[in-house]
Amino acid sequence: MNRIYLDHAATTYVTDEVFNEMKPFFCDIFGNPNSQHSFGQETAKVVDIARERVSKALNCKFNEVYFTSGGTESDNWALKGIFNAHKNKGNHIITSVIEHPAVYNACKQLEKMGAEITYLPVDEYGKISLTDLENAITDKTILISIMSANNEVGTIQPVKEIGEIAKKHKIYFHTDAVQAIGAFNIDVKEMNIDLLSLSGHKFYAPKGVGVLYIKNGIKIDKLNIGGGQERSMRGGTTNVPAIVGLGKAIEIAVRDLKENNEKNIKLRDAFIEKVEKEIPDVKLNGHRTDRLSNNVNFSFKFIEGESILFSLDLKGIAVSSGSACSSGSLEPSRVLLAIGVPIGLAHGSIRFTFGKRNNMQDVDYVANELKQIVEKLRFMSPIYQKGEN
Ligand code: PLP
Repeated sequence: MNRIYLDHAATTYVTDEVFNEMKPFFCDIFGNPNSQHSFGQETAKVVDIARERVSKALNCKFNEVYFTSGGTESDNWALKGIFNAHKNKGNHIITSVIEHPAVYNACKQLEKMGAEITYLPVDEYGKISLTDLENAITDKTILISIMSANNEVGTIQPVKEIGEIAKKHKIYFHTDAVQAIGAFNIDVKEMNIDLLSLSGHKFYAPKGVGVLYIKNGIKIDKLNIGGGQERSMRGGTTNVPAIVGLGKAIEIAVRDLKENNEKNIKLRDAFIEKVEKEIPDVKLNGHRTDRLSNNVNFSFKFIEGESILFSLDLKGIAVSSGSACSSGSLEPSRVLLAIGVPIGLAHGSIRFTFGKRNNMQDVDYVANELKQIVEKLRFMSPIYQKGEN
């Protein structure tokens, strides 16, 4: 069976170029970079190279890059670390209603610890308003945490403008750039970003490795207490092969950014056009063009997203209903509700995210299978027969 993966926002494979770079560090070159002998020095050197590559990609300093276990840890560290270090100055944090659970639920937890959180609303495309942001600032605001790009509907936020507002009011700005890296250029200096989260497995590096960029001079509490790794800021034995992979992958992501975007936009727009032409009663969620180049999110009237997902899976096609992290829950997507998608339609939504191995044949094949599946499910749907949703 033809297997087609259209769920790159959930995770990516490790590419050959990245894997080849990582290979020696499993069996042959395996020292602990914190060891003082030559085995340790060999791996300390390659971790330095990876740190250098990340710092080049983000335009920050080498010693502003901290390796973590992934996006979730980086987000938690940024929010809790800033709150704990600055709560005597102020307890107010501004975020948005469409953040990934790693930020959103960390904020919910901080509320129980005395934080006051403003969850900014978004417009029909998922963008925050800069006026709302500025109006929400008080003399107790210590942090703004707004994601660079949304994982469900692909909305890109005005990161540079948010950074300017944060700088003007002398408030720290954290951005979850987990879905953004490789999709658009991120320059932490130019964008006035103070803290930034990344996750390797979203850009063809392995799972379980991430980055938190912390601008030099920022006071932040530790999240992981332990040994002296990461300049005593994040305890835990260094995951050398994964860090090597992340370093290589970020270098490639920046190198191939233009080419990947151009290809993804062609696939994305052709897919949107085909689906809208071939399947009646569909709604594209998010902006038509001002969105991540590889993201498509559709709601199909009268049917459940889960039924579409499982039917596509039987045909070898992998997609996601809402966000992979929250699937399994009966709740409709918080993000879709926030952009004004009615509950019924939100239940019938599917996210398709393209990646390096996809091509135009995949677009044709998936659109065709999707058309047949939607027809069949609607034929069986009592609400379709009654014309309700
Ligand atoms: N932030 C965003 C925007 C994400 O899409 C994800 C993963 O889906 C995360 C954070 C969490 O990253 P990780 O899986 O590395 O913990």
